[in-house]
Amino acid sequence: MECNHADKLMMKYMDGILTMEEAQKLNFHITECESCRESFFTYQMVMDELRDESAMKAPDGFESEVMAKIKDIEIDYKLKEPMPIENISAMLWGVFSLLFGIGVLLCIYNQPVLKFLLENPYTKDWAQAMIPTMDLLNEYINDIKTKLQEFVSDGGQIFTVVKMIAVPVLTVLASIKYYIYRKKKVEI
Ligand SMILES: [Zn+2]
Repeated sequence: MECNHADKLMMKYMDGILTMEEAQKLNFHITECESCRESFFTYQMVMDELRDESAMKAPDGFESEVMAKIKDIEIDYKLKEPMPIENISAMLWGVFSLLFGIGVLLCIYNQPVLKFLLENPYTKDWAQAMIPTMDLLNEYINDIKTKLQEFVSDGGQIFTVVKMIAVPVLTVLASIKYYIYRKKKVEI
């Protein structure tokens, strides 16, 4: 075999496409020919170095992928952290305001609500059972009204004004609290 043919076989060997037969021929030649043996080992060394380098070098986007993974883990970790106390208080405040608002609305509109519930076949029995409680509630409200009227000469009107102010104010406050709570949750 001539040296330039051996060189071609060496290239094939580097590309990993050398046949068994060709490998035997090449092997035979480099045991005989010193110059080809030298170039074979030189090629081999260069190949090894390139392989090591490509193994060390991260593929494109590898770093950003790793960073994204780390961020995912951090988010997971943060979500598992106990909810900050201010979020809990905001939530409780929101729930309380909402219930209070519903309570105030029910105090004002209990008669139409009761009428609606009594007319609905699904809530009829339940509403029937609620009548004594509602009456008691009305009695209680009227009692407060009377006491207020006794306390202030024009008490009845003041109570109506308080009711009219309390509902929108509580609704706005609850909305603000909820908005702050949501914003904080998103920022996490
Ligand atoms: Zn040779």
